[in-house]
Amino acid sequence: MSGTYKTLQGGTVSEHFPYNSVRTAQKDILSSLDKIYAFGNKYRYIVIEAGTGIGKSAIAKAISEKEGNCYLLTATKQLQDQYIKDFGNMGAKAVKGSVNYECSRDEGMPCSNGECKFTKGIYTQCTLAGECPYYNAKKEAEGSEMYVTSYAYFLRISRKFQPGGDYHGKFTKRNAIIVDECHMLEDQLLNCAGFSLSSKKMNDRYKMNHGLGFKELCLYNRKLKDGEDEKNIEWVHLVDSIIMRKMMVIDKQIQCVKTGNRATMTADELSELEDMDLMKLANKKEELLRLHEKIQGYFLSENKDNWIMSVKENTLSIKPIDVDGLFQKLINGWAERKVVFMSATILDKVGFCKDMGITPNETAFITRDGTFSSANSPIVYDPIGSMNYKNIGTTMPYVIEEVKRIMDMHPNEKGIIHTSTYNIAKQITEAIHSDRFVVRTVGESNESLFKYHATSEKPTILVSPSLMAGVDLHDDLSRFQIIVKLPYISLADERVKRKMQKDKKWYTCKMLRNLVQECGRSTRNEADWSVTYILDNAFETVMRYNQKMLPQSFKKRIVNVNDFDVEEYESRMNNAR
Ligand code: SF4
Repeated sequence: MSGTYKTLQGGTVSEHFPYNSVRTAQKDILSSLDKIYAFGNKYRYIVIEAGTGIGKSAIAKAISEKEGNCYLLTATKQLQDQYIKDFGNMGAKAVKGSVNYECSRDEGMPCSNGECKFTKGIYTQCTLAGECPYYNAKKEAEGSEMYVTSYAYFLRISRKFQPGGDYHGKFTKRNAIIVDECHMLEDQLLNCAGFSLSSKKMNDRYKMNHGLGFKELCLYNRKLKDGEDEKNIEWVHLVDSIIMRKMMVIDKQIQCVKTGNRATMTADELSELEDMDLMKLANKKEELLRLHEKIQGYFLSENKDNWIMSVKENTLSIKPIDVDGLFQKLINGWAERKVVFMSATILDKVGFCKDMGITPNETAFITRDGTFSSANSPIVYDPIGSMNYKNIGTTMPYVIEEVKRIMDMHPNEKGIIHTSTYNIAKQITEAIHSDRFVVRTVGESNESLFKYHATSEKPTILVSPSLMAGVDLHDDLSRFQIIVKLPYISLADERVKRKMQKDKKWYTCKMLRNLVQECGRSTRNEADWSVTYILDNAFETVMRYNQKMLPQSFKKRIVNVNDFDVEEYESRMNNAR
């Protein structure tokens, strides 16, 4: 039956394409896949770099059908939802974390903290009766051809269980794993293992110091120092034990909110309940549980040499340096036959293989450039000055002037300013004071920021260092974007510094991926158009030395500021509407 879990299917990948009509670029990719599949098991890994607008998800579906069953991993919820929208009636089923489902026995309570967590036998009752929405979603996905989930969810589960082990069901090896948006895989693996701990921040958020004795409190609040690894590890053990106790306190608090029974609660525990509803408490417990799992992951790691420990402003960070071991253990082992990586911005394919610990001779590469017209989305190189650490202070006033000038050239259009750092965003917004700016404030999420921008009638402008990927500013949601500084990742991060010292190309490639992603935020379909201005004069050098890594479709978009006439461009675009 179409859409259910099957074994490997006959025929070519092309024959399993889900739609009747196929675009030229899709046809090219499918034909390359057919050739690769003709080699049988020679290539375990397939890396598909395909530009925006090609329709990669339909290619993924064709591979899934050919393989009969697969895991499809995405980095964002939007993409996960898109897969379900496109292929939900063709065998794609999604699973999200249990905190996203409401327990059917307890209104308002997420399944992550349902009654079954406290009372024996409930879980079996609920599942047999088909009453649990989380269990039902898992069961449906397990029986489907295409099990769609987020990296975060998959990595959490694959970390806890071995392929073939029991996870309230059949979370087990599948023929293929398709890793969409794989340019984000390294960071996702890093996030699933690395963690930062700050006694102050944890106190503010979880009231960690409540209930501690004097000695323990002193140890918990002690000043951390870089290089004191042994003492720091002792401190992590202490924090972990407090986390475990804190989770038990939250369980008690949840029961108190539910039953109103305060008899077993201390004054501290009751005082923490102000403004807390079940969802907030369950979310806090979930956050602590994840932290605990990461800490345990570090303690259990066999290769401690691959971890870097650093202290900054009394915050201790512990992160893996290379993620190849994590990829092998947490993803690769779950694919029976093939692992397929897909992205518009892999750029350095050999470097990507190295990062994942896979060899190029067991990897097949497919590259297909984007199909959007370069004339619709010029990248205007408008060099204002050097934005590196040494010169940024001198350059910023000129950058601010130029940002003002560009905003005035687009008085009635929405746009986005990619600032690379929060500090630059602050300097621009404080210097320009425009009611068009939409800026993230403390406690606000990018989603709510985007929602405001999308629904406002005004020609609003997003100002952010963190909207370089994952946001879809199609059509009138953005007609211009400004890249103030090239999006290099921060060298203040010890892991980044260490990786960069080992491999400079890795560091440049990370920046280029971010840059190509930024330049792709505002043109999202064939008919869409937007102009991008790059103000950082390092762009010229970067272009000179990294030509080979960048897609042709990106390079074709670049024009010099002196050759660009915004009025002519806009009238041409508006006439073409
Ligand atoms: S198994 Fe039952 S009690 Fe547990 S989360 Fe699901 S519906 Fe709620």
